[in-house]
Amino acid sequence: MGKRRSGLVIALLLAFSALLGIAGLTFFGGRVASTSSGYIRRWFDDPANRPALINPRAQCPDAPFILPTAGLIGLLWNDPAGPYTLLTPHTGLDIFGAGEPGEDPVYAVYDGWLSRLESWYSTVILRHDDPLVPGRTIWTYYTHMANREGTQSFVSPQFPPGTSDLFVSQGTLLGTQGEYSPGRAVGLHLHFSIVTSDDDGAFRNEAQIANTLDPSPYFGMALGNYDYPARPIECATSADRS
Ligand SMILES: [Zn+2]
Repeated sequence: MGKRRSGLVIALLLAFSALLGIAGLTFFGGRVASTSSGYIRRWFDDPANRPALINPRAQCPDAPFILPTAGLIGLLWNDPAGPYTLLTPHTGLDIFGAGEPGEDPVYAVYDGWLSRLESWYSTVILRHDDPLVPGRTIWTYYTHMANREGTQSFVSPQFPPGTSDLFVSQGTLLGTQGEYSPGRAVGLHLHFSIVTSDDDGAFRNEAQIANTLDPSPYFGMALGNYDYPARPIECATSADRS
């Protein structure tokens, strides 16, 4: 290839990547990076780092939801940190507990109605009247609540597979954090997301970001990746919220 030709190829490649970059910025509102992996690495590399990174299970002033569990809020909503990508970002929160599998309790974030499909080994979902948009139905989804091998579910025994629309109040114990994720090794954590409803009121597929909501206003904290929050994440001040 001649010098001129290769120059042209390089110029075209540069122009193409610039276009991709601009498209990415446009689609994701500038959310093209993430600081989450560094925090997660610190968490797993040395347990001595953990106390300084933990968010306690708490409720921020004026926020309707309580945090479902205590730990490092590692992956955020709309987070492209690996194994997720800009095109398939993380749809909820990954909260990494400091205990052993089966020890860190997971609680209902708000009053709602619990369902667990027959096939769900480590997962429950709660239906809620949206406290922020009156008249709208939303869902909260909790998963990985079983041991890694899939031989022991950590979902509370009062919610067996097949449970449908059972009322639970905010703070009800749903189970404990685990490591169950078939086909993929994950460290101990809870995956939590807020899921929207179909027109008929059923929950949508939570694996797609478009079917989920930014949890920030529900918890009164910056939980979207675009904020690049330091860990632990503080409650937003009233100035932040205005
Ligand atoms: Zn997750």
